[in-house]
Amino acid sequence: MARSHPGVSVRKAQYGKGLFATRRFRKGQQIGEISGRIIHDPDYGSDYCIEMGPGGSMEPSAPWRYLNHACEPNCQLFSLHDDDDCPPEDRTIVLEAIRNVQPDAQLTIDYEWSAENAIPCGCGGPNCRGWVVAADELHLIEP
Ligand SMILES: [Zn+2]
Repeated sequence: MARSHPGVSVRKAQYGKGLFATRRFRKGQQIGEISGRIIHDPDYGSDYCIEMGPGGSMEPSAPWRYLNHACEPNCQLFSLHDDDDCPPEDRTIVLEAIRNVQPDAQLTIDYEWSAENAIPCGCGGPNCRGWVVAADELHLIEP
């Protein structure tokens, strides 16, 4: 069942679906708390999963799983608990605007994937790295 959240909506994007703002968000403003399924498996991986500290990750539910990558994103995921001892199910991850966001803008984050998981990037930003990869791992990608 698709869940919704005030201020955002899922719409068709350039590739598949994306998450869009339906209102204005100021830089630094929290857009919402990410909900999802906690997975206790250090080897688990998927296109959307979020690191939740040692041994845990979260598979975000709708609408958050539609957050697309951009090399110059307008949002970031922010953990309210950075303590390694905090179990994954007790952590709170929020989506926060890192630029001023206008209504109808697509909300994006930097996936910061490792070089081994990188795929070509189509974000179209002026400073696109060409790959969906963490900036500090870009040099590890074979040309
Ligand atoms: Zn890009």
